[in-house]
Amino acid sequence: HFILFRMITCDLTGCVTSAESVLITLQSHEELLKVLRNNKENATEQKVVVVSVSPQSRASLAAYFDLSSSETGRRLTSFFKGLGVHHVFETSFSRTFSLLESQREFVERFQRKEQDSNRLPMLTSACPGWICYAEKTHGEFILPYISTTRSPQAMMGSLVKGYFAEQQGLSPQQIYHVAVMPCFDKKLEASRSDFYLEKDETREVDCVITSGEVQKMLEEKNVSLNDVEPAPLDTLFSSVSGGEFLSHAGSGSGGYLHHVFTYAAKQLFGEEVKDLTYKILRNNDFQEVTLEKDGVVLLNFASTYGFRNIQNLVQKLKRGKSPYHFVEVMACPSGCLNGGGQVKPKPGQSPKELLQKVEELYKAERPLSPEDDTRVAELYQSWLHSVGEERAKELLHTHYHPVEKMKNGLIMKW
Ligand code: SF4
Repeated sequence: HFILFRMITCDLTGCVTSAESVLITLQSHEELLKVLRNNKENATEQKVVVVSVSPQSRASLAAYFDLSSSETGRRLTSFFKGLGVHHVFETSFSRTFSLLESQREFVERFQRKEQDSNRLPMLTSACPGWICYAEKTHGEFILPYISTTRSPQAMMGSLVKGYFAEQQGLSPQQIYHVAVMPCFDKKLEASRSDFYLEKDETREVDCVITSGEVQKMLEEKNVSLNDVEPAPLDTLFSSVSGGEFLSHAGSGSGGYLHHVFTYAAKQLFGEEVKDLTYKILRNNDFQEVTLEKDGVVLLNFASTYGFRNIQNLVQKLKRGKSPYHFVEVMACPSGCLNGGGQVKPKPGQSPKELLQKVEELYKAERPLSPEDDTRVAELYQSWLHSVGEERAKELLHTHYHPVEKMKNGLIMKW
């Protein structure tokens, strides 16, 4: 377990509680295999198994097997289905919801910034390593700045146990939902009480496995993705067959800065921005993008990756010296493509070489602007409209909780 914990970015905050460590170890590829075995052996307690794969994990496995990201996605679909998984989805679809909600949330915060001083900068919320650190270390002070928009994984939880379950005539509990992600921190995110459905006694994401764990599963089954026949990706819509692998422009961590910036420039100042110019500040993991008109800075955005840069940002905020309106915050240096759960370099390959390859594969997919995704627009119209405003907000947003510093022996220091 020691090795596992060392791979969790959250440990950089100084602690992983023993309660959290149990939650993490409960989620593993062995758990998924157990559910699949049970489905074969026990006719009465069948679960519909759904696997949602992140684009960062596809890129990581693609680099390992020398395939394109899309081809990796199709072969993974085939591999999982061969094991007994019923549906395989893509989380770039749910990320579109996350990006759209972030755009709206930012514009709304910006317009009300005069009334409420701690609404800006809006800090992104998709990284559980960062959220864990913020809740444990800076609690009450920092949480109001963090966007309430759910991460792509948590959005997928809503979609699978909400929309999809309904379409299939299933209760959320009848579905076992697995997410394939680039880091261990996502296991902590899945086990948050905010993503537990009390009434149905089930989590929206039951189990998270990392890209590295998928590679291990393949090894244990003696399967190379190079020898697997590709299969079409499923879609959440019964009327559409063969999902498409899509990407979003901007960073490999979801492109939050890119999409919120272009949307805000248009909505707030009528400026059409096609290409963003990133200015490197202290290092590659701290960059800035500005929108200027007649010498006046209208928008000032930044991306801040890795704990050194994050600590710097928080200190600036505490001193009232942050010049930013929006910050894409990610706990891992270089962001999600470099997550602690990604496939490790091959012998003789440097981590830098590997990361470069993963980035190229990730960026090679066709980017689609969130505003242009008609399938998502359709779901806003049909599903979210029908559940009512209050429920729609719950399905797309979340809450944060300051964590009191624990004084007893429950904390493990690394
Ligand atoms: S930066 Fe990405 S990979 Fe790293 S902890 Fe955060 S969400 Fe996970």
